[in-house]
Amino acid sequence: MSLLIKNAQFTAIDSEDEVLTGSLLIEKGKIAKIFPGEPAQIVTADETIDASGKLIIPGMTNAHYHSYSNLLKGTTSNLPLEIWSLYTIAYGHSLDDEDIYLAVLLGAADMIRSGITGCIDHFPHLLRVESALKAYEKSKINVAFAPMIQDISDEEFLGLPQENQLVRSIDELRDFFTRLVKDWHLKNDKIRIMLGPNAPQRCSKAALALCREVSNQYGLDVHTHLSETKVQKDMGDRTFKRGLVGHLDEAGLLNSRLSAAHAIWLNENEIDLLKEKEVTIIHNPASNMMLGSGFAPVSQYVTRQIPIALGTDASNCGISHNSFEMMRLALMMSRVNNRNYQEWLEPKDVFKMAAVSGAEVITESKRGKIAEGYDADLVFLDKNSKTFISEEDSVSQMILYENGDSVDSVMIMGDWVYRDKKILAFDEQQVIQQIQEKAEKIRNGAKGALALAERKRRSVEKFYQHFYN
Ligand SMILES: [Zn+2]
Repeated sequence: MSLLIKNAQFTAIDSEDEVLTGSLLIEKGKIAKIFPGEPAQIVTADETIDASGKLIIPGMTNAHYHSYSNLLKGTTSNLPLEIWSLYTIAYGHSLDDEDIYLAVLLGAADMIRSGITGCIDHFPHLLRVESALKAYEKSKINVAFAPMIQDISDEEFLGLPQENQLVRSIDELRDFFTRLVKDWHLKNDKIRIMLGPNAPQRCSKAALALCREVSNQYGLDVHTHLSETKVQKDMGDRTFKRGLVGHLDEAGLLNSRLSAAHAIWLNENEIDLLKEKEVTIIHNPASNMMLGSGFAPVSQYVTRQIPIALGTDASNCGISHNSFEMMRLALMMSRVNNRNYQEWLEPKDVFKMAAVSGAEVITESKRGKIAEGYDADLVFLDKNSKTFISEEDSVSQMILYENGDSVDSVMIMGDWVYRDKKILAFDEQQVIQQIQEKAEKIRNGAKGALALAERKRRSVEKFYQHFYN
């Protein structure tokens, strides 16, 4: 199946000219050829479309995301991470396979609607991985799927009493990943399995060693939370001789295969080490603000040429999985409290983070640019919308004013997944309705776990009050 897109205006990211015009020939899921202007008559394709009036941009990547959280909108979100996570874990206990399946589809629709064509799903419910992956297959979005590994609870790390134990032996985890890689890795060229240690302080040495072993054995990438709060940073420095970053280094996990979400609280040496080891940092501006986790000095990271991609994190810390909101917040946040405006991020910087760097984190194949040989992950924006009022600096207009309403159609690897504002792979409206019908069941099912969370909350709050006094 081939497709010729005529009269295309498209963003070139790497080129001096911000928007180019021409025709794109799509073959076998790739951008086979770009013709400046009209192609010669001899070019034939199974289908030809006229893209006049559209701006075509590459699909973007949501590089840190938790799909299950789509079901937790409207739950507790006014607390700092250490207390907030007690509730998010509690709700997680009540989710069954069908809930997870629907959560993945709802998130995929949310992302595709704003031009996101790939994501990293850092996924905590190991018993539910099959239903999550089936939903990803159905949705047709690209996913790097990172089941979370954790064998140390936050209470244990903070030195608080524990009421439940985390169980799953290292051998069980090894078997789990072996099976998962065999059944799902590289399926349809859209699904990739990653190792997802929850965070360095939440994994024993043996669990981190397993991540390294499996990553080396199958050539899998690794994704983790890193130094998200000041409490984590300070407790990490007390617990590990070289802090959280050093702990990952000693486990042999600091390398170009690793992407680290948040990385807010780092000292100079740690920043240097991440740079030296070619780790990618995933910046999550909305979640960092909503949970009061802190200010990630992204401009400093950019100055040191550390690769940065962007993520939306969880729905229950206050964001929809909207690429434009994600990029805009990253841009705005870089300007807060920074008088050195030379360091402020510009629209083209955050666009590159979302499109190019994001794609590089989830796949080695060519994605995230409109260039010959790259995957045909294309987003069509209607320029006849309130976002665009002139031909000047279309990228700035898009980053600063777009909310997703102008996204008209999206293709992933040459397949239309969204056309004329309709999700094609599944019935989005039915998914929404099913989730709304299940909301009460999910909340009722979590009652016991929520009561436990309430009990734990008291000791975590006490810890908070005393930690910095
Ligand atoms: Zn997260």
